[in-house]
Amino acid sequence: MAIFPIRVFPDPVLAMQASDVTEFDESLSRLIDDMLETMYEAPGVGLAAPQIGVLKRVFVADVGEGALVMVNPSVTDVQGSWKFEEGCLSVPDRYWQITRAEYARAEGVGRDGERIVLEGDDLMGRVLQHEIDHLDGTLLISRLSARVRRQLLKDLREESVATDRVL
Ligand code: ZN
Repeated sequence: MAIFPIRVFPDPVLAMQASDVTEFDESLSRLIDDMLETMYEAPGVGLAAPQIGVLKRVFVADVGEGALVMVNPSVTDVQGSWKFEEGCLSVPDRYWQITRAEYARAEGVGRDGERIVLEGDDLMGRVLQHEIDHLDGTLLISRLSARVRRQLLKDLREESVATDRVL
């Protein structure tokens, strides 16, 4: 097992569409184990493969009830609306009140290709929507209002200028 560096916005890999997994082999299993280790180390409640630079449709999560793994997932149902303070390991140390569906249901397969359904509201519903967004190249930044997004981009530019001056 290995811990991978987590890609941070504006890394272009975070904006790319991930591809379906077709081989359920040893290398997929190793990827999943590495993602779990990286997620727990971060620590985070979810991690999608593009966040470690792998453009495959795989995410892992743990909302406090043990490790979850989903391969080739898609959201098959959403209900309600819920505003929640949400962050992302790829946009570190920032949180925003973001409105998404309160309940989400996702269908996909597990590491051996067995069919899996995950569903829930609160944090579970939130994680499913957030991680599957990552697989479509969508960051939580695109869920912000235009004004908040502009301010974030300005702040990030200023911070990177400031860091460049640290000798
Ligand atoms: Zn994220």
